Amino acid sequence: MALFCAVPVAAQDDRHPMLGQVAAEVSPQELQATIMRLVAFGTRHSLSGSASATRGIVPAQAWVKDRFAKISAQCGNCLEIATPAENFSGSRVPTPTAFMDVLAIQRGQTDPGRVIIIAGHLDSRNSDVMDTLHDAPGANDDGSGTAAVLEAARVLSKRKFPATLVYAVLTGEEQGLLGGTVLAHYAHDHGWNVEADLNNDIIGNSHGGDGKVNAGQVRVYSEGTRDLESESEARAIRYNGGEVDSPSRNLARFIAALTPRYLDGFGAHLIYRTDRYGRGGDQVPVLAAGFPAVRLTEATENYTREHQNIRVENGIAYGDVIAGVDFAYLAQVTRVNVITMAALAMAPAPPSVSIGGAVTYDTDLSWSAVPGAVSYRAWWRDSLDPAWSHSRAAGSATSIKLERINLDDWLFGVSALSADGYESPVSFPLGDRPAGVAVTSAPAR
Ligand SMILES: [Zn+2]
Repeated sequence: MALFCAVPVAAQDDRHPMLGQVAAEVSPQELQATIMRLVAFGTRHSLSGSASATRGIVPAQAWVKDRFAKISAQCGNCLEIATPAENFSGSRVPTPTAFMDVLAIQRGQTDPGRVIIIAGHLDSRNSDVMDTLHDAPGANDDGSGTAAVLEAARVLSKRKFPATLVYAVLTGEEQGLLGGTVLAHYAHDHGWNVEADLNNDIIGNSHGGDGKVNAGQVRVYSEGTRDLESESEARAIRYNGGEVDSPSRNLARFIAALTPRYLDGFGAHLIYRTDRYGRGGDQVPVLAAGFPAVRLTEATENYTREHQNIRVENGIAYGDVIAGVDFAYLAQVTRVNVITMAALAMAPAPPSVSIGGAVTYDTDLSWSAVPGAVSYRAWWRDSLDPAWSHSRAAGSATSIKLERINLDDWLFGVSALSADGYESPVSFPLGDRPAGVAVTSAPAR
């Protein structure tokens, strides 16, 4: 055959085979089995107590812990299991109660202080948020997110990564984002440099209550400016731009760029707000602690299946039951998480970027050298563009002059690349703080 015109696929395709492999290993059957088991606990209301060995949040937490232990046994005990707990009381917690998260930690091989988190919440609710007795299956809210966390652990624990991966099953979301609060405190207290928290909440349904069907997208919500931001930083952003370039927002862009390269016919729909109107999730306390975080939610929700007692009313079936979960769709959203975590953990950390000069036709960017980075790439885009559109390789230098690219006309950023070509999210010059950890004070207790 005509060998002379054969072009190696690799020369045309810069995809990383490992990311394709981890995506392929995500199993809809595993996700389904997990949600069936979770639903069988009857209710997983955070205050359902420990009276029963088979019903309620406490046996459900024990089951999750056991699942992590079994996954760990398959990878030479590669997971450390932690169960941080804190006492809370408030309008949705009438008597002080301990809320416990179940975390599985896969330590990074070379850079364990860098942490990538996937989270979902184990607790469920029905119409009355204080009803601890009646069935609240929580198949989708948030059995789907919990199943994604466990499936990510099963798939990614078979491989080794430079950075640390954390699989977080949280409790207390419905009582006031308490599981996310426990996670944020734990991350802060352990000095984690959290570069991403992927919060998965309601990710398994493709049929909206309004009749719209969307099995080809997941919504990714991200904050525009950082929750933890000083007055002077806010002033600089007002003047120079950066209102849509928080580390969380650039993490969201990273997910949107990565997803269609590895998942045929599937994409991330970026939404430029922290969460849906009047609603929140466990990423919110993580953002408040200064860490980049996004919320992933299905493209089209069905409100008759969320926070509702199981019943039929006027011919409409209410309740968060397993029939409302599309497991092929849930597998795609889980794959978005798995490839994002693997890509982030293989890449260097995003650099800390500065932009210099005034009254010049060029742009001077400089940045801190990042451990594990062998090269860097400067990015720019029109200030009205939602995504990074232009780039230039900077080699191993820690600065670049973009000649005849006028610094007044564009928004700029820099990414870092590993020797094998994994690229970090783009860092926007928001001052001198690192793009990852941005904690300047302890989060409020
Ligand atoms: Zn939820």
